[in-house]
Amino acid sequence: MKGGRSILRGSVQYLKGVGPRRAERFAKLDVHTGRDLLYHLPYRYEDATTVDAISELKVGQDATVIGRVVSKGVIPTRRRLRVFRAVLRDDSGHIECAWPGRPWLDRTIDKGDLLLASGPVRFYHGRQLQPREHIVLSRASDERGASGDKSAERSAPSGERGERPAAGRVFPVYPATEGLTHRQIRAVIHLNLASLLSDLGDEDPLPGGWLEDLSLPPLAEALRTLHRPPAVSRVEPCRRRLAFEELFFLQLLHARARARLRHEVRGVAFDAPRTLTRSLLEALPFELTAAQRRAWSEIEADMARPSPMNRLLQGDVGSGKTVVAALAMLKAVEAGRQAAIMAPTELLAEQHRRTFEKMLGPLGLEPELLTGAVTGKARRQALERIAAGDARLIVGTHALIQEGVDFAAPGLVVIDEQHRFGVEQRRRLRESGEAPDALVMSATPIPRSLALVLYGDLDLSIIDELPPGRRPIRTAVRGPESRDAAFVFLGDQLAQGRQAYVIYPLVEESETLEARAATVMFEQLQARFPDIAVRLLHGRLSSAEKDEAMRSFLAGDTSLLVATTVIEVGIDVPNATVMIIEDAERFGLAQLHQLRGRVGRGAEQSYCIVFHASETPSERLVAFEKKTDGFELAEEDLRIRGQGDLFGKEQHGAVLLRFAQLDRDFDLLETGRRRARAIVEGDPGLSKPAHRRFRHELDLRYARREALYHVG
Ligand code: ADP
Ligand code: MG
Repeated sequence: MKGGRSILRGSVQYLKGVGPRRAERFAKLDVHTGRDLLYHLPYRYEDATTVDAISELKVGQDATVIGRVVSKGVIPTRRRLRVFRAVLRDDSGHIECAWPGRPWLDRTIDKGDLLLASGPVRFYHGRQLQPREHIVLSRASDERGASGDKSAERSAPSGERGERPAAGRVFPVYPATEGLTHRQIRAVIHLNLASLLSDLGDEDPLPGGWLEDLSLPPLAEALRTLHRPPAVSRVEPCRRRLAFEELFFLQLLHARARARLRHEVRGVAFDAPRTLTRSLLEALPFELTAAQRRAWSEIEADMARPSPMNRLLQGDVGSGKTVVAALAMLKAVEAGRQAAIMAPTELLAEQHRRTFEKMLGPLGLEPELLTGAVTGKARRQALERIAAGDARLIVGTHALIQEGVDFAAPGLVVIDEQHRFGVEQRRRLRESGEAPDALVMSATPIPRSLALVLYGDLDLSIIDELPPGRRPIRTAVRGPESRDAAFVFLGDQLAQGRQAYVIYPLVEESETLEARAATVMFEQLQARFPDIAVRLLHGRLSSAEKDEAMRSFLAGDTSLLVATTVIEVGIDVPNATVMIIEDAERFGLAQLHQLRGRVGRGAEQSYCIVFHASETPSERLVAFEKKTDGFELAEEDLRIRGQGDLFGKEQHGAVLLRFAQLDRDFDLLETGRRRARAIVEGDPGLSKPAHRRFRHELDLRYARREALYHVG
């Protein structure tokens, strides 16, 4: 840009080799400014030092080759599949490469181009490479000095012009998008890297002292190396540098949200004498486990502070979160406030009501129920009691946070099964009334690292221990050949008066398909067990029908429930002892673990039988059979699937972490979190001169993303 304006801040459009059309495409990659381009880093590298000599390729091998295209063309096959083929030659020999179903490559790959291709070597009339990936390293047309097909590219030198694929040459592969290939991105970055870096100068959002402590390189050096590494081995320390930066600023964002809530919003200090909480502890027929005691004392201390609590209580199914939540609710009530617990469904709300009635009845407390099903006069009266403050303990669904519900003296809100509640509800809750304390309960254990990233603005209490005397659920992972034996076993349990579930996976492509699979099984089982009450529950049923089926199972009128995963997450049927899961590969580990948690809630030995459709069970199922601890499984899941998958598409997490890898960077995460909290503690507004650059960097990073990630 002219006039000395920063090209880092300017639109990517004005950079060399871009222009308005390409700028639009860059926008799809979330690259809008020069700075974004600088941070648009390769996700992978091809390393010419690991290139295989074509003559030495063996069938079955996964290979990377570099060669010239000596001939090419599209060949139709019998099955109407059009295959693009190209013969590559290097100094040692030649090989045919085939791209089935990708005839359009004929327009982008030319005779004479230098190609890097990697993929499996198959046998098809001789050796054939089927590239998973390929990069055009240099164009025959560029080398001849002819103009490229697009004006923007014409000015772009190929970067590799005339170069032989020398040892040690590393090719970055950039995230690309439709109409913008990684080769084009590479060329654009090549053209602009020097000026972007010189504009950056030695600017660095992190203090030099920190970098030395952690042995991480300065920003400019890290970016330069990541775009043009002299060797792949130089990449990792630079990735860690960016990972740390990312984790630190994310934790700083979290810490500020947390501080804002603590310092700027007034809450209630619950510090009345322990009348009710003590009575409950005395009345319980058991001792709290050490983990429950720890969680309770964290919550109690937090509630006693004048700032609003905002805490996540994590614990495996059956770890005894409900008692801890009840204690927290009583602490609010003994201080003269109201406490509400909000469940994701009516059924679960009713279940909570029964639990609380049993647990708290002896203390003379009766919970008030408010769900969508409470209507007419009963609803009016409930609303009146809530508004007058006569109802102290309220159990409900999100009906609790709708218009017209007026709490006389809100003190604490417990949110059960947080993962079914969106960010939006969390915010709405905080806005309602004068910042009541909030305790979010989750029965989906996630690794601590992931919790810190996703919910870093919350404080965390973990119950990582089950009450003593639980019989572990026996888990068996089996192939289809064991199906009959499993059903014999199931019949045996049913004959003893037990209840059981048979679960079918949700078929994403088609609810109809999924309903059909479950229906077929339902009919088979009905025929097999004529004396047993079997019911079917799937997504195609109306919500009234689903509710009815669930209630019938809950009441014990139905013994066998054939269901798709629409079954309630937290539902408790102590008499259910068998969980059979069909086609288990379709489930994630967390889901499988949730399902298994539906049994083993009573005195009898419980069983979980899991069927895999494939020849051998997946790594995930093997882990599931071996481990029963939800937190261990969650770590395993993170390892097997990788974090990208765990965040899911709709989660904001995927946007938040581009460089950090939670399984590898836990040390950086902890350090970043510690530093962020310490800074915000002493300077919540980040207004000290030394912290101004942090605030500036937060704006740069999250201004656009604030909408995705709520703050405070
Ligand atoms: P969660 O909500 O974490 O899944 P619950 O709170 O429903 O677990 O507890 C499961 C069962 O364990 C309940 O029947 C509860 O009464 C019982 N329980 C809770 N804490 C203890 C304990 N410390 N010792 C024995 N039993 C307990
Ligand atoms: Mg529960």
